[in-house]
Amino acid sequence: MQIQKVLFHKGKCFYVRDLDRDFHTQFGFIKKEDLRKSKETVKSNTDREFYIFIPSFIDSYKKIKRVPQIIPLKDIAAIVAETGINKASVVVDAGAGSGALACFLANICKRVITYEIRKDFVEVVKKNKEDLNLKNLTIKNKDIYEKIDEKNIDLITLDLPEPWKVIKNTDGALKIGGFLVSYSPTIPQVGDFINEINKNDNFHHIKTIEIIEREWDIEGRKLRPKSQPIGHSGFISFVRKIK
Ligand code: SAH
Repeated sequence: MQIQKVLFHKGKCFYVRDLDRDFHTQFGFIKKEDLRKSKETVKSNTDREFYIFIPSFIDSYKKIKRVPQIIPLKDIAAIVAETGINKASVVVDAGAGSGALACFLANICKRVITYEIRKDFVEVVKKNKEDLNLKNLTIKNKDIYEKIDEKNIDLITLDLPEPWKVIKNTDGALKIGGFLVSYSPTIPQVGDFINEINKNDNFHHIKTIEIIEREWDIEGRKLRPKSQPIGHSGFISFVRKIK
């Protein structure tokens, strides 16, 4: 079920999916009649005031169902920025996993086609697609190592155990000037993928990067990095089809 309303109270955020039921929080419950109204604030039965608004894409996105490890926003941001994809772009993505990357890209691109070999994960992506109300996302229960059906693609994104097995299938699928981006958690995968790319004159390896995000505490004069380890997510390799 899609998120219908976002509530804020004392720095805490709540997501309401069902407007036909009262919404319960540790600060009391809000009546369904109040949830449906287009007001800026609503009160709980214990007289606590909540700010209320319509969710935007990112509110719903952050609540999607997750099965395997999803790609973090910092890494999606790099893919979007480095490839310059936009509302005219057509993207092929694999493996879909929970569909996190595919859904995010579908929200900004013309069309996204995502491949996933596991039927149970395909069902999760279908649910996420519905919750995010994305009409331009096609989910294929297919092995991308076998074949890519589409032609004239602007961007192919890979988050797969053996991304090098896809290189042969990009012929005819990825347009000249198009991007191939591979996301891998370990460096041996990056090595095998880029060494294979470098043997092929059709491609140019632009760069491989790791995005490190460090969050800060900003509270009065306590201004310093959060006391938490910097987590590793994955390496992103950017490749361009040049001929
Ligand atoms: N980027 C995804 C997570 C991908 S996890 C996200 O943001 O949600 C990797 C997925 O690739 C797994 O679900 C796995 O089942 C799928 N996969 C592995 N090999 C595949 C193949 N040959 N073709 C299609 N999907 C594959």
